[in-house]
Amino acid sequence: MKIGKLEPKILNLPSGDLPLEIRRHPTARRITLRLSNQGEAARLVLPRYASLREGLAFANSKKDWLESRLHDVPPRIPFEDGQIVPILGTDHRITHCPQARRGVWRDGERVLVSGNPEHIPRRVTDHLKTLARQVIGDRAHAKAAVIGKQPGRISLRDSRSRWGSCSHTGNLNFSWRLIIAPEFVLDYVGAHEVAHLAEHNHGPRFWALAGQLTPDMETAKAWLRRNGETLLRYG
Ligand SMILES: [Zn+2]
Repeated sequence: MKIGKLEPKILNLPSGDLPLEIRRHPTARRITLRLSNQGEAARLVLPRYASLREGLAFANSKKDWLESRLHDVPPRIPFEDGQIVPILGTDHRITHCPQARRGVWRDGERVLVSGNPEHIPRRVTDHLKTLARQVIGDRAHAKAAVIGKQPGRISLRDSRSRWGSCSHTGNLNFSWRLIIAPEFVLDYVGAHEVAHLAEHNHGPRFWALAGQLTPDMETAKAWLRRNGETLLRYG
C-alpha cells in the first residue's frame, strides 16, 4: 500500500472545480479532510487501511461543508493597478503606466509598472523579490558579522509554512513576502535565522541571542501570528 502522496483528483463543487490533494499517512487513525489556508485545494488524508474509494466517498459527502468554508477564505489581494501594497511598512500604490518602457520602478509611495496590464502581477512580484533579496541579504550579513559568523547562500522562497529557515550548512532561506511586512518583522526573521548559525535549536541561549540581534522580537512574533496569513494573500 503506497504511503505518501497519491494522484490528485478534482471535486466538483457548486462554485467550481476544486483540486483534491490526497495523501496516505502511516499513523493517521481516520479519514480527514480540510481546506487549504488559501482555499486553492482540499486535502484528504487516508489512514493506512482506508481505501481510496472510501476516501473519495468521504470527500464527496463533505462538498457542502467545503463550499461554505470556501466562502470564509479571505480574498486574495491581487497585484493590479490601484492596489495598495505595503513595502517595509509604508503603503505603496501600484500604478500602471502603459506607455512607459521602464519595467517596474518606485517613485515615492508608488510602484509604477509599464507594459501590458496582464504582466503587472509578475513584474510587481519580481520587483518585490529583488528588493527583498537586497534588504534581507544585507541585514543577514550585518547581523551575522555581529556574532562573528558568515552565512552561506541566502535564498528567497515562497514557502507558505515558514518565514525563514537555516540549513545545517548555514544557508539561509527567507520568504520574499517579508518585504510586505513592517521592517521590525523582517528584521526579527533575519535575526532569528542568523542566530541559528550559532545555535541550531530553539533553546534559551538561542532566544537570548536572537533577542540581541533585533530590537522588538516579541512584538514581531505577535505580528506574524496575527498577520502572517495576510502576507500570503498578496499577489
Ligand atoms: Zn528557528
